Amino acid sequence: MINYFGKITLSIIKPDAVKNGYICPILIKTFNAGFNVKLIKTVKISKNLISKFYEEHRKKYFFNSLIKFMSSGIIVPMVLEKNNAVKDFRNLIGNTDPIIAKKGTIRNLYATSLEKNAIHGSDSNIKAIKECIFFFPNIINNIIKS
Ligand code: ATP
Ligand code: MG
Repeated sequence: MINYFGKITLSIIKPDAVKNGYICPILIKTFNAGFNVKLIKTVKISKNLISKFYEEHRKKYFFNSLIKFMSSGIIVPMVLEKNNAVKDFRNLIGNTDPIIAKKGTIRNLYATSLEKNAIHGSDSNIKAIKECIFFFPNIINNIIKS
């Protein structure tokens, strides 16, 4: 696990981007920015499970709406590998609010709104490892050890 610390991040293509047909454009942008897609799957997640993922936001005014949105359709979680993965991927996706996100970032190009903002990226190396285990509990250990 130590070897991968700082070198992986967890991303999720959110339901708005999936519905709008942006899986491929987002993957191409991610690949062109130097990320290796180590693991990827499509899944529809329950409100209960995504509430656990976004536990840190439970008290925020937007929590219920965020949970409803994230459980409303297919999402695409993926483990991305690159040196400086967390920071570089946050730069690639841009600000949480697509209106503020820099031109050419994934959220600038593909987001629908502040809530429906196309993509998730882990915000620290510790959370990246935890979030990768959250979505890929059975296989992540093999990846990390290999
Ligand atoms: P993410 O964790 O999804 O990568 P982020 O780290 O940029 O996004 P957070 O503050 O962690 O932003 O918020 C988590 C998600 O909650 C946002 O991506 C967005 O979908 C939603 N969200 C955040 N702030 C607001 C808000 N003020 N109003 C509505 N939705 C919001
Ligand atoms: Mg966040």
